[in-house]
Amino acid sequence: MPAGWPATRRRVLARDRWVCRLGFAGCEGHATDAHHTVRGSEDEATIVAACGACHRIVTQQQASAARWIDARGDRAAEGGTSSGPGRGQRFVPPLIPGQVSPETGGAA
Ligand SMILES: [Zn+2]
Repeated sequence: MPAGWPATRRRVLARDRWVCRLGFAGCEGHATDAHHTVRGSEDEATIVAACGACHRIVTQQQASAARWIDARGDRAAEGGTSSGPGRGQRFVPPLIPGQVSPETGGAA
């Protein structure tokens, strides 16, 4: 997170009038986050206002697809083309056998 991020975020939100520009299904409308559409770019032209719901969705999509929207210009809000976020994903914690050491009962 760059040092100037809070200011950048505020500028982006003000520029977009606190309206989410991602518009996924479930969009809350009111933007509270700023979203990078181009990884690594701090150019405010590539950062858009996003609501919490859309930000979660798009972050998930980017993480899973490892593909970032090429937002040259104003193409960040390309909603409705995909089938939407997968809701079936559940986090299953790995089974951790309670503090059992591999060497049990060995009298050394
Ligand atoms: Zn939204």
